[in-house]
Amino acid sequence: MSKYDIVIIGSGLGGLTCAATLSKEGYHVCLLEKNTIPGGCFQSFRRNGRLLDTGIHYVGSLDEGEILRQYFSYFGIWDRLQVRRLDEEAFDLVNYQGKEYPYAMGHELFIKRLSDLFPGEKEAIRRYTELLKRVGETISVDQLKKGHFTQGSLDHFSVSAWETIASVTQNPALRQVLSSPALLYGGDQATSTFYHHAMITDSYLRGAYRFTDGSMQVVDALIDQIRRQGGTVLTGAKATRLLLQGDKINAVEINHSERLEADYVISSLHPSVTMQMVDKTPLIRKAYLSRLSHLPNTYGLLSVYLIQKKGTTPYQNSNLFLHEKEDVWYTTKHPEDRRIHSVLITMQPSASDPEHTDVISILSPMYIGELTPWLDTTPEKRGDAYLGYKEQKAEEVLAFVGNYYPEIRDNIERIYITTPLSYRDYTGIPDGSAYGIMKNYNQPMTTVIPNRTRINNLYLTGQNLNVHGALGVTLTSMLTCGELVGTEYLAKKIAKG
Ligand SMILES: Cc1cc2nc3c(=O)[nH]c(=O)nc-3n(C[C@H](O)[C@H](O)[C@H](O)COP(=O)(O)OP(=O)(O)OC[C@H]3O[C@@H](n4cnc5c(N)ncnc54)[C@H](O)[C@@H]3O)c2cc1C
Repeated sequence: MSKYDIVIIGSGLGGLTCAATLSKEGYHVCLLEKNTIPGGCFQSFRRNGRLLDTGIHYVGSLDEGEILRQYFSYFGIWDRLQVRRLDEEAFDLVNYQGKEYPYAMGHELFIKRLSDLFPGEKEAIRRYTELLKRVGETISVDQLKKGHFTQGSLDHFSVSAWETIASVTQNPALRQVLSSPALLYGGDQATSTFYHHAMITDSYLRGAYRFTDGSMQVVDALIDQIRRQGGTVLTGAKATRLLLQGDKINAVEINHSERLEADYVISSLHPSVTMQMVDKTPLIRKAYLSRLSHLPNTYGLLSVYLIQKKGTTPYQNSNLFLHEKEDVWYTTKHPEDRRIHSVLITMQPSASDPEHTDVISILSPMYIGELTPWLDTTPEKRGDAYLGYKEQKAEEVLAFVGNYYPEIRDNIERIYITTPLSYRDYTGIPDGSAYGIMKNYNQPMTTVIPNRTRINNLYLTGQNLNVHGALGVTLTSMLTCGELVGTEYLAKKIAKG
């Protein structure tokens, strides 16, 4: 039986950043991934000779001095990454009921460009931007310098995203334009927290970037660092059981056979999935397990990848949101609303041909309930009816986008489609949720999951705990690693770079 200081389960960004940090801090770590290719939602996959990103289209806070760049520098990967800064004047273009509104980078430019279109609302937009900034400051490099990863964030968890937006302006169109990022956190008008809305929106104002030739480069760079620092990364290694001895986990079983001994275990999986792997113990009550597995998850995403004929499609350095309905929020009140009415369109930059894109990705919310006939199927074996349904959905998406951009079909070589079922089976996330457990401002203490568990050598991390996305998951990893190595020590060390 191999013996490690720390076994980390799941090689998405959560597991990778924990492994990179803890191996750097001198621990003997082993990172386990059930799939043959690591990376989880950071993985890129090849189709028709093109690289397609699974779950990362753009990331924020990468400008000089901003927090995600600081973390990537600490991991030793920043200099290796090929990134492209999005258009400063409009990293996002929000098309709300036929009119375009730019989201410009930098707080002042953001205020200026939106105020140009809502001249009477300049003060409201400034007030809103100040609120965003205040949330961003709770997780900034200045906080690291003081020995914190986050300070004062919880206050914003118990505040509603929608009510905050509605409180700054009475203008109906502006309210909806400011709500557009809800698509980036599975926003629900009735429950979403202002913290999630603001942290994500503010991070893009602090430097919105795409990964040139895919996000897999982040995975490769982190794995190189982990191995260089003496860590082990095992793929095709599914954690199947966490074995208890007394009140501690002493080993992780992989693939129902081999066992790895560990002093500590960190799991980046959905907490209910992790807890179901633990041997029966009075430390984990049935009621707790049931509560975890009944927490609502965010909706999933339908991703339609349009592979473009080489050299035909000019690369656009902005994302495009199309919102057809008066209300941009998808809501759990109508989970069966299957009509496409909001999409996000992104383009992948390529190093070999910066002027053109190979892949256009179109994302639209999709509830797993829409896929009920195929819930019991596995990848590649879902049958013709599923393939037909996916094609029908792709056609609906193209028809929807075609209302705004008739040329969308001009250069398509092939179309690939993924649904929440693909994510459920590929990453193991319940319901194929895009962003994990849905946070509820009315119940911040029950929907935000602590890193510590009642088993004192088992820790949790990953997108389900706190905040999802490149920044949210990295921050959560640091909170988890801080439990082991000391928060103040680690935060101050990262601040030094
Ligand atoms: C379609 C889509 C688009 C997105 N776009 C963006 C974006 O543009 N920007 C952004 O910042 N965020 C985006 N996100 C969110 C972001 O990708 C995720 O929040 C983040 O990557 C999640 O990281 P994670 O490590 O928590 O989980 P995951 O990436 O899901 O990793 C979990 C890993 O654990 C593995 N695993 C599962 N069970 C086991 C087991 N038993 N044993 C071993 N391994 C196991 C899985 O295979 C997987 O590799 C998007 C998400 C989706 C779905």
